[in-house]
Amino acid sequence: MSDNRCIQVLPEVVANQIAAGEVVQRPASVVKELVENAIDAGSTQIDIHIKDAGRTLIQVIDNGIGMSADDAVTAFLPHATSKIRQAEDLFNLSTMGFRGEALASIAAVAHVELRTKREQDELGSCVCLSGGTLESQELIGCSKGTNIAVRDLFYNIPARRKFLKSNESEFRNIVQVVEQITLAHPTLQFSLHHNGQVIYQLMPENTHKRILSLFGKKLDGKLLSVQVETILGTISGYVGAPEAAIKRGASQFFFVNKRYIQHPYFNKAIQMAYEKLIPSDARAPYFIYFDVEPAKIDVNIHPTKTEVRFEDEKAIFPILSAVVRETLGKSNSIPTIDFDQDDAPFIPALQTASLDKPQTPKVTFDPSYNPFKSSGYTSKKPSDHWEDLYQQKSSGFTFKAEEEPKTAVATSNSAWGIETELLPPTPAEYKVMQWKKKYVVVLTEAAIQVFHQHRLHARILFEQYLKRMQQAERYSMPLLFPEVLELSVQENSLFTQVSEDLTALGFEFEPFGKTAYQITAIPEGLGDNNPVQTVLDTMELLQTNPSASKTQQKEWMAQTLAEKSAIKAGKVLTEMEMKLMVEQLANCQDTTYAPNGKPLLVSLNENEIENKLI
Ligand code: ADP
Ligand code: MG
Repeated sequence: MSDNRCIQVLPEVVANQIAAGEVVQRPASVVKELVENAIDAGSTQIDIHIKDAGRTLIQVIDNGIGMSADDAVTAFLPHATSKIRQAEDLFNLSTMGFRGEALASIAAVAHVELRTKREQDELGSCVCLSGGTLESQELIGCSKGTNIAVRDLFYNIPARRKFLKSNESEFRNIVQVVEQITLAHPTLQFSLHHNGQVIYQLMPENTHKRILSLFGKKLDGKLLSVQVETILGTISGYVGAPEAAIKRGASQFFFVNKRYIQHPYFNKAIQMAYEKLIPSDARAPYFIYFDVEPAKIDVNIHPTKTEVRFEDEKAIFPILSAVVRETLGKSNSIPTIDFDQDDAPFIPALQTASLDKPQTPKVTFDPSYNPFKSSGYTSKKPSDHWEDLYQQKSSGFTFKAEEEPKTAVATSNSAWGIETELLPPTPAEYKVMQWKKKYVVVLTEAAIQVFHQHRLHARILFEQYLKRMQQAERYSMPLLFPEVLELSVQENSLFTQVSEDLTALGFEFEPFGKTAYQITAIPEGLGDNNPVQTVLDTMELLQTNPSASKTQQKEWMAQTLAEKSAIKAGKVLTEMEMKLMVEQLANCQDTTYAPNGKPLLVSLNENEIENKLI
């Protein structure tokens, strides 16, 4: 090699490393490129082997057309591709990759060993490269197809290697890529292995079965088929029935011509179709496949981008929305599902009160409810109780209801301020009562406070759960009949990360197969909540935010569990229960907001009342 040549070679290696940064961002991007190449080569069976989330090994074995001995080397040259011959081919591409950069980029940042043979060749080739340099090439005996192993990714770029996230997180990304590709090609056979364990073994099947093979029983019976012909081509696939909607981590996939794409605009169209059928913060799963003429779409030719633009997106939007809506309608979806009682309007009686005419304050009571029953007070009719509160002069309340209680209540349709400092009352100094089975009303010397009972309780539980996780105190309740928690591969990798925290919260698990567990105990106070669903919900926020800090993760888990366990609106409370909560709140670090960030009380002091009476 001449001196002149050296100068050219070095920048090329560097250039490839830089280009590699674009294509090869993480192990998952290598998996994507290699599997897409295998699909382009006409393979019907593709086996993926991963070690250490792809740090140590990413190997893809296919039974496709293979490469000649010459091509086995040429394939690694930058811009070497068998897929574009003329510029206009760019607009007609039906294959996956098309920049001829993937192999060159991968070889620049890893040790690569390629074994490949075409049907018509007697012998196959084995080519080895390291950091972009060809190290060996020999003829070998092997079967038809290609077997490519990528070892020690980023071995020569320590900064990139350090940049990789935890194995769990990197492997989750790989699983995501595999999900996307295998959903796009249900008729192909795939397997995914991690550290020698079989993660997926997918046989050729139809789309519906492939979805169930990947996402399991959760979606069984909850998928509705969608099919419509439009001017631009066919839209087909499956959408989840409303009951399949979940708050976080729904499986949502768009494919265009067998390529996974992200499309926020079309996502919106589907979201609209579910309006009023599911809570506004819930998401339904969907698997939508567009089959369009390649000329009518503009695939961003950056290989790592998954965005595609359609010729006439505005025209597709209403069609998509309508077809999903119609599908949901046909399935007799009932527009309700109130799984968030926390969104109940705040003190509606006050908000709708008429302003111009003074009215008698309307207070509704649960007739069967006696606030004094459990506390040793003499029994009185509920209405007497309110009068007692209004006329309480002996204890020094300055709120004199009999003077003009009507205006005070009837005009406060807006600015009830939130008391930021809640003075911890001592039991002797306050009275409590429940209002509308939804609020805990507290009268203290300083103020009238109305607590949202669910949020109040959620705050208390939230802080308790956090403490339990810190101190690993356990409050478990054994389950008489253990329940089986079946996880997807992705969920399982997250589960292994957080199972210690879940145990600290009071769950107990026993292994029950590769990605399944028996729940043998649940946290105390979880009530009627389904244990399996609770564990899944507890992990959901984490799933959508894999890079969250450990502290943040713990807070989310505590929040989910607190929201599930907290008493709901509609629950009648005894005076003791109410007092207990009010006093427990006084010991909380935050006494004004529920864990979800919403206020947990409104408070009105004397000044505020007087200002309103001017
Ligand atoms: P591109 O896929 O954009 O053409 P790549 O760098 O991914 O670029 O691959 C370069 C070329 O190597 C491909 O065009 C193809 O001819 C060949 N090749 C790569 N992987 C395989 C495979 N698994 N089987 C057969 N040929 C392959
Ligand atoms: Mg490619």
